[in-house]
Amino acid sequence: MKINELAEKNYLWVEKMGWHNKTPLEALALIASEVGEAINECRQETPSEHFGEELADIVLRVLDLAHWQNIDIEKELLLKMEKNEQRGNRGRIK
Ligand SMILES: [Mg+2]
Repeated sequence: MKINELAEKNYLWVEKMGWHNKTPLEALALIASEVGEAINECRQETPSEHFGEELADIVLRVLDLAHWQNIDIEKELLLKMEKNEQRGNRGRIK
């Protein structure tokens, strides 16, 4: 399944559940809350067994927001990766 298909599938499920946000700002706040949950799974020397699930929560919320806002996230990701590659290391030493 391609990423835009995943985004649509997840969007439709969230819509069915009646959980969509009213504003993009609210959606971003919930993405931030998922980042906080992921941070909590990394408080030991190594990430917990739930770390991957929290990363998935972050990605799903981002995909949901992108789909809602009619953003072609696959296109944006590819464009951004290309832009990053063109920028090179911007003077940073490995
Ligand atoms: Mg979570």
